[in-house]
Amino acid sequence: MGKQSEKCYCAFCKEPRRVYTKRHMAASNVLLSLVTSGLIMMILWQQPDPRVFMLFVLCLSVSEVFVQIRWRVSIACPHCGFNPVLYIKDPERAATRVSEFFELKKQDPTFFFSSNPLLKVARQQAQAKRLAARKKALALKEKNASGQLLSKTL
Ligand SMILES: [Zn+2]
Repeated sequence: MGKQSEKCYCAFCKEPRRVYTKRHMAASNVLLSLVTSGLIMMILWQQPDPRVFMLFVLCLSVSEVFVQIRWRVSIACPHCGFNPVLYIKDPERAATRVSEFFELKKQDPTFFFSSNPLLKVARQQAQAKRLAARKKALALKEKNASGQLLSKTL
């Protein structure tokens, strides 16, 4: 049996992570489905029964769905939420997902103590917000000062 997962780097945040390489079921899953359906057959009917083929197909489809869901879940980056499969299909939606992931992470108080690569972006945003507030306060102060000056001259 080959390696089921491998280490890679996120294309968006460049953080190392693991992804499952197995996209579809292998011979081991077919064998396991065969054994499982045989066991269920013996438990339910205590003798060989043709309905076992239905069970076998059901077990096969369940294992295929499980393997595909595991692969789809592992493909999205746990650090930034970037999904390369979604990016190939719809880059706009992939960007929206990263933004949503970022907004969700910003609400988590432990996020600011983590080593998440999005933390740099959050700090830049916070600094830009502080700068904008300071500029606004200065502009207001200047406006008030000029207003007072104007009222004193009148
Ligand atoms: Zn990432």
